[in-house]
Amino acid sequence: MKFKDLNLAESLLRAIEIEGYETPSAIQEQAIPHILNGKDVLGCAQTGTGKTAAFALPLINNLIEEDNFDRTIKVLVLTPTRELALQVRDNFIKYGVDTRLKCSVILGGVNQRSQVEVLKRGVDVLVATPGRLLDLIKQRRVKLKNVKTLVLDEADTMLDMGFIHNVKKIISYIPEERQTLLFSATMPNEVKHLAKELLKDYVTVKVNSESLTVEKIDQSVYFVDKINKSKLLLELLEEDSIKSVLIFVRTKHGADKLSEILSQNGINTGVIHGDKPQKARMLALKFFKSGKHKALVATDIAARGIDITELSHVINYEIPEKAETYIHRIGRTGRAGLRGTAISFCNFDEQRSLKDVERVINKSIPVVGEHNYKMEQTVLIRKPSGNRKNNRKNNNKFSSNNNGGNNRKNTSKKNNYNSSRKTHGRSNNKSKY
Ligand code: AMP
Repeated sequence: MKFKDLNLAESLLRAIEIEGYETPSAIQEQAIPHILNGKDVLGCAQTGTGKTAAFALPLINNLIEEDNFDRTIKVLVLTPTRELALQVRDNFIKYGVDTRLKCSVILGGVNQRSQVEVLKRGVDVLVATPGRLLDLIKQRRVKLKNVKTLVLDEADTMLDMGFIHNVKKIISYIPEERQTLLFSATMPNEVKHLAKELLKDYVTVKVNSESLTVEKIDQSVYFVDKINKSKLLLELLEEDSIKSVLIFVRTKHGADKLSEILSQNGINTGVIHGDKPQKARMLALKFFKSGKHKALVATDIAARGIDITELSHVINYEIPEKAETYIHRIGRTGRAGLRGTAISFCNFDEQRSLKDVERVINKSIPVVGEHNYKMEQTVLIRKPSGNRKNNRKNNNKFSSNNNGGNNRKNTSKKNNYNSSRKTHGRSNNKSKY
C-alpha cells in the first residue's frame, strides 16, 4: 500500500514525502481509514510503530476537509509524559506544515505563562499532560467545548502513573458527542475496561510490535551482584560497539547515583527522571540524541514513549518490576530496521522478575557466562548443599571479596525484596520514578 491509497490530502502527502516515509506502517494502514471515517479506535501499538502519524495524519486531514482552522481546540491529545507530549506536538507541526494548522502543547514543570499566552491566541490541536491541563481548566484558561476528537496516548502508562483520575475529570469537560482514540503499547485488562468505558462502537487495530521488537533485538543477561553492577557497566561501556546507550534503573535516586558514577569515570552522561526540571530533561535528551552524551540514565516513566532513532544499546541496569516494562525498554533500540542490543543485569534478588520477563516474551534470554563480575551470591545461596565446612568457606570467600555480605545479610536482603515488592504498588510509582 502507498500513502496516496489512503485518501489523504495533497498537502499531507507532500509533508510525508518531505519526511521520507515511503509506505504506511502497519498501524497507519489499519488505523487511518477508520479515523478518517470518524470511528472510535482502540490501537495497540507502541512508540516506534509510527502510531503518532497513524492518528495525526487523518485528524489533520479531517480538519482540512472541514476547512476548520478557527483556532478553537478541536483535537485534544493527552499523553502521560512531557517528552511524549512534545514529540506528538512536533509531529503535528511537521505533518501540518503545508496547512493553516496551529498546534501547541501544555505541560507541567515549566512556567504556565507562555502556555496561557499561546492558548489566548488560539490553537486547533492541543497536546497536553493531564495535571497541568486540569489546572488550566480550573483556572478557566482552556475551553474544551469544541473538542471533536480526544486522543489518549499511551493509556497503559497513564494508568501506571495514576493519571487516570485526572484524565476522567478532563473528559467531563469535553462534549460526549465526539470521536475517541485510545492508544496503548500493552493491553492489560485495565486498558480494556477503560476502552469499554470511553469508546463507542469502536474498532480495534493492533500491530504485533511486541514480538517483532523482541525478535529483532539481540538480548543477553549478565548475572551480577548488585555491588558489582557499576563496575561491570563501566567495563562494558569501554567496548567500541556501544555508541549510545540508554540505561534503565528503577528509581530516581538510583538514576542520579549511577549517572554520577559514570560521569566521574569520564563517560558523558545525562539523566532523566520525574524529579528533574523539564528544562534539564529536555537538555539531557537533546545531548543524548545529538551524540554529545554517550549514555542516558533514565527511570521507566521518564523514558516511556521517547523516540530515539539509531540507539544501539539498551541496558537494564535493574530488571523491571513489571515484566511488560521490559518490552517498553528494549523497544527503544532496534528501531527503523536497525539491529539493536539489549543487555540486562540481574542480581540475586531480581531473578524472579527475570523469570516473569521471560514468561512474557516467551523465550529465555541467553546468559553471558564468562565475565569478570560473576554473581557470587548464587553460589552461596543456590548451592548450600555441601557440608557445613564448605559453606563456611564460601562465606569467607564472600566477605573477603568485600561484597559486604554474609548469610545473615543475604536473608535480610531477601526479606527486603519481599516487603518491597509488597509496597511497590501503583500508588507508590509516582514518587519513586
Ligand atoms: P512513533 O511510533 O509515532 O513514535 O514513530 C516512530 C518514528 O517513525 C518517528 O521517528 C516517525 O517519524 C517515524 N515514522 C512514522 N511513520 C513512518 C513511516 N510510514 N515510514 C517511516 N518512518 C515513519
